[in-house]
Amino acid sequence: MSNIIALVGRPNVGKSTLFNRLLQKREAIVDSVAGVTRDRHYGKSDWNGIDFTVIDTGGYVVGSEDIFEEEIRKQVELAVDEASAIIFLVDVTEGITDMDKEVSNLLRKTDKPVFLVVNKVDNAMLETEAMEFYSLGIEKYYTISGMTGSGTGDLLDDIVATFKEDNYVDPFEGLPRITIAGRPNVGKSTLTNALLENERNIVTNIAGTTRDSIETLYEKFGYKFVLIDTAGMRKKTKVNENLEFYSVMRSIRSIEDSDVVILMIDATLGWEKQDMNILFLAQKYRKGVVIVVNKWDLVGKETNTLKYFENFIKEKIAPFTDVPIIFTSAVTKQRVYKTVETAMKVYENRSRRIKTSKLNEIMLPIIESTPPPSIKGKYIKIKYCTQLPTRTPQFAFFANLPQYIKEPYKRFIENKLRQNFELTGVPIEIYFRQK
Ligand code: GDP
Ligand code: GDP
Repeated sequence: MSNIIALVGRPNVGKSTLFNRLLQKREAIVDSVAGVTRDRHYGKSDWNGIDFTVIDTGGYVVGSEDIFEEEIRKQVELAVDEASAIIFLVDVTEGITDMDKEVSNLLRKTDKPVFLVVNKVDNAMLETEAMEFYSLGIEKYYTISGMTGSGTGDLLDDIVATFKEDNYVDPFEGLPRITIAGRPNVGKSTLTNALLENERNIVTNIAGTTRDSIETLYEKFGYKFVLIDTAGMRKKTKVNENLEFYSVMRSIRSIEDSDVVILMIDATLGWEKQDMNILFLAQKYRKGVVIVVNKWDLVGKETNTLKYFENFIKEKIAPFTDVPIIFTSAVTKQRVYKTVETAMKVYENRSRRIKTSKLNEIMLPIIESTPPPSIKGKYIKIKYCTQLPTRTPQFAFFANLPQYIKEPYKRFIENKLRQNFELTGVPIEIYFRQK
């Protein structure tokens, strides 16, 4: 889990400009956490080899004065709760405003490192003007231009120097890591508790410094795995209004940290955008996925209800439909064991290594009988395939004209791989390369 830098400040000081600069060319992995009040930005970067995550909490501020106080308070609380370091951004061209003073007052209470950063100092002339910000009562300020990037290097040097060294040794190194993700109230804690019950073999709960989820080692059901519990942490927060955002943030971070994601939904509420976000994230980070439809006890069951539900979800998650779907009741403990068993199976699938000889033996005849469609009279021949030596299943197919192989054929190959090798619940990657 990397350190987090949060950007706070009133609207238009340049937070999103600085955010983009800090992430440089890494936009590709920026997540807009949608579905809340505003889109919020979250992305990963590094400086001098030290990884960090940046959150632009600025999304909260809608700009209208009367709601400002409340919004800015939330923004700052979020930063204070979540961040390892806070960048408090102000604007030299505007000078000190009342809003800046309020932010400054709110930040005075935290013991986290706060960096007062005067932005839009695009030239040396403006350096002198920046001096007025001393009156905010923060000992030191930095001058930068988010637009050109000047000054940001020195700032980052000092910020990463405050990060606690991650000399944390993972006592669970090498064990499967499972997280239960989902919207608030779907039943994550209830499932966690059901798993915990009568458990005598729990070794440790770890709430580390930079790791803010609780990790519990389970030796149960004949399995040994680490459960990353985000639900418990979330309940601790004071900022109830931000519950949804918190749960999304936590989900993102625990997903990154795990091998398999149990995506829990509430049977009485169905599938929503946030569930889709979690699924996308899991796919993007190539994590194993198990979908759990909880509160199944509340659903009136007629013939085919289950099948109907299953199809409904598969339609939503297409094309990644090779995902186990389990119907549980965390309160009655129905299929709690099955959930763990399935998650462990998916873990196994995700670690699967298929011998090259076996892969070719199965796939080449399939490809031969259904080759990629020829384009402009050119025949495309796939000669050979292999699983790449990556941590999660990725495959390379070598062809004479790989650039002519289109998406539908790729999907066909993926389906065939899934039919022939156990890869259920695992996002896979297929590449066509020049032979
Ligand atoms: P936010 O509302 O705090 O996220 O602010 P934005 O990043 O959207 O920036 C507000 C405005 O300030 C935009 O027009 C930016 O182009 C401009 N801006 C941001 N950084 C700089 C800078 O370093 N110098 C100058 N001159 N303008 C900047
Ligand atoms: P979390 O926010 O996802 O951790 O959700 P909780 O575990 O706190 O559950 C929210 C509410 O749903 C609580 O009142 C639980 O008792 C209830 N709940 C959880 N699982 C089930 C279930 O399987 N069936 C029913 N009927 N209620 C459940």
